[in-house]
Amino acid sequence: MDPRTRGPAAGSQPAADRQEREEVTVRCWGTRGSIPSPGPATAGYGGNTTCLELRAGDRRLIFDAGTGIRLLGNKLLSEQTREASIFLTHFHWDHIQGFPFFAPVYNPEFRLRIVGPEQEGAGVEALFAGQMGPIYFPIPYEALSASLSFEHLNEGTWEEDGIRLMAMRMRHPSFTVGYRAEVHGKVVVFIPDNELLGGPFPAVRGWREKLEEFVGGADLLIHDAMFTQEEYPRREGWGHSTFEQVLELALGAGVKQLFFFHHAPERSDQELNQILARLRHHVRERGWTLGVHAAFEGKQVAIQEG
Ligand SMILES: [Zn+2]
Ligand SMILES: [Zn+2]
Repeated sequence: MDPRTRGPAAGSQPAADRQEREEVTVRCWGTRGSIPSPGPATAGYGGNTTCLELRAGDRRLIFDAGTGIRLLGNKLLSEQTREASIFLTHFHWDHIQGFPFFAPVYNPEFRLRIVGPEQEGAGVEALFAGQMGPIYFPIPYEALSASLSFEHLNEGTWEEDGIRLMAMRMRHPSFTVGYRAEVHGKVVVFIPDNELLGGPFPAVRGWREKLEEFVGGADLLIHDAMFTQEEYPRREGWGHSTFEQVLELALGAGVKQLFFFHHAPERSDQELNQILARLRHHVRERGWTLGVHAAFEGKQVAIQEG
């Protein structure tokens, strides 16, 4: 019997206990794209690169291992957590560079599963070991003492203990996926790197329709919004989207809450606030109910009953 299912039937549990078990929360540990960008101009939204945590009962799902994962690792150990899974969207530096500083990997009691898309024959473990080679990093990969396991998920569905995760390939250099998580009837979609329109990516028939279905009805969509409309013409083909493009996707797909993510390293808090104010005004004027936000470090969202 799975110890997580032990105890009285759900219907006989006290309400508070049941609520805690079923509550789904998402926390941003790193919201920045490309490179860490600390400093007073970015302190509000944060300078750490991509990392997101999804908690569902006692399950800990981590998406991407950018520099934000360092503080998450410390928190997990301080809470006596000894098991977690990391789901990677791809292997660009800003999504993996925090991994060697994720303290649980040096704890022999910790069980860590790492899932991500295989890259032209290169597996997830080889890619992680590579970034810890002696030329790049002083501690060898062999020194990791946690119990590690690796799985590949390029496209398709991963299911376990009532959690359903779907991966879909995005328009971005290298094999990059986005994830749709369905947990206790709540839907969270995480797409940190994706160029919605334009760029040199091969045309895949029906991709946009498939994407709208993938994002459809999400309680929370966290999506790449690296560029403004003015910046985009000089950045087309880099694999990222504009705020307006993402807003259009979210409205078309019936999303409830939208979080702009993967902020450009040079994007100041002030600029982000101005962009948000403009787009919120636009949404309000048209009578749309979509909640529009920009992800910031430490931001925790409890997904309400839909
Ligand atoms: Zn990125
Ligand atoms: Zn990338």
